[in-house]
Amino acid sequence: MIEPMPRHPKLGPTGLDAQVPTEVADLQSQSRKFAREVMRPVAAELDKMSADDVVRPGSPLHDFLAEVKRTGLADLGALVQLPPAEQALTMPVLMEELGWGDAGLATLSIVRDVAKFTAFRLNSAELIERVGDGLGCFISTQPDRGSDAIDHLGLETYPGMRPTVGNLTVRREGADYVVQGQSSPWISGAPVASCGILQAACDFGAGFYDHEGRMNYIGLMVPLDEPGVSKSPPLAKIGQRSLPQGAIYFDSVRVPAEFVVAEGIDAHRDLATNLALAKTIVATAFVGVGRAAFDYAFAYTHERSQGGVPLIRHQSVRARIFQMWNRLEASRALVRRAVAYHYGPYGPSAIGSITAKVHATEASFALSQEAMRLFGANGLTPEYPVEKLLRDSQSSLIEDGENTILGINVVAMLARPDSVDV
Ligand SMILES: Cc1cc2nc3c(=O)[nH]c(=O)nc-3n(C[C@H](O)[C@H](O)[C@H](O)COP(=O)(O)OP(=O)(O)OC[C@H]3O[C@@H](n4cnc5c(N)ncnc54)[C@H](O)[C@@H]3O)c2cc1C
Repeated sequence: MIEPMPRHPKLGPTGLDAQVPTEVADLQSQSRKFAREVMRPVAAELDKMSADDVVRPGSPLHDFLAEVKRTGLADLGALVQLPPAEQALTMPVLMEELGWGDAGLATLSIVRDVAKFTAFRLNSAELIERVGDGLGCFISTQPDRGSDAIDHLGLETYPGMRPTVGNLTVRREGADYVVQGQSSPWISGAPVASCGILQAACDFGAGFYDHEGRMNYIGLMVPLDEPGVSKSPPLAKIGQRSLPQGAIYFDSVRVPAEFVVAEGIDAHRDLATNLALAKTIVATAFVGVGRAAFDYAFAYTHERSQGGVPLIRHQSVRARIFQMWNRLEASRALVRRAVAYHYGPYGPSAIGSITAKVHATEASFALSQEAMRLFGANGLTPEYPVEKLLRDSQSSLIEDGENTILGINVVAMLARPDSVDV
């Protein structure tokens, strides 16, 4: 006899999950609770505040950072100690939940410890002491080097041209390194950070370019309390308002060789690894943002009635919800596959992390747009949660590299038989 089909299919906590190991399932339910009870209320508050108020002492942002630390939930140092296969499993699950809570706070939670982590990697007693528990930030882009800073290998530099040095450079002077210039105003966490991880062109004594016209690079840690460092006010912007950004200015800031993270080709590798990590963070968090859009739309179409019945009873609405479901599942599946590749034997991978980032952020943008339309006019007002998701997703299309140029970077890497994937 043929067994009857079960009436209610058993779905996992994030849809079509075949099986999740117990430790990952525990982390998932803990982070989902944290996202719902802590992140969403704080993010809603921060979203309504001015950029200045978000970073002011006493703002909910600081309480939030203390709370993440207390829970130990998004501990980057602990995460990267896991065997790669476990990182590949844990990272997307954790970040999806945190992204579902709020994209900006999710990013902040995970990069919070990046300075401490790098100081320990350099094994510099002075840096470890000075960085303490302070927030770190990645300084790559400059006013004149946006996409060019992300495309640090110059894959899209116009034929015959060479990459520009930009507005922020480093010079070796004796045993020290001197930093001069300014970052772009888009450095995430800058207004509240106490240490920067800087990637810039460096003159090691023979100019900024090598004999083949390639730019000499350096990775450097710069404590932001050094004399000569100052910051711009935080930037007002459309989305991810819980993740403050600002510019950092360097006026002949002198740091010792002990603070060098990497030089030359190693600095390119280091930057590529950081960029790849950043993209996996954005990708996995924006699967969560897409899921939030789906969840809100699904709930709303059950609550709101038009034509005499809840919206969900109309066949065209069901078809639209299915399109959302399909897009979300496809995004999650692709991201987990690309992240597994990134953490696998061929990683860290620019191709894997870019593929994940571009797909997840485009999906999240499309999902938020459709959620807004399903909310009708209500979707347009901050009284309802979906317009924030669209604003957050809009920023994600540009964050860590605008998606079009990231895509053409991947094609350049695929097309080159000697392709350097990180
Ligand atoms: C939310 C957010 C967070 C960020 N956080 C950080 C951070 O923590 N640290 C940091 O250093 N930076 C950060 N950035 C900066 C971000 O990396 C840059 O904004 C991004 O790389 C694009 O640079 P740009 O804005 O200068 O645009 P541009 O480089 O001026 O690009 C403008 C347009 O031209 C296109 N374009 C550019 N070059 C080419 C080319 N060669 N071929 C074809 N098309 C091209 C681009 O695709 C884009 O559509 C952040 C940005 C955002 C929005």
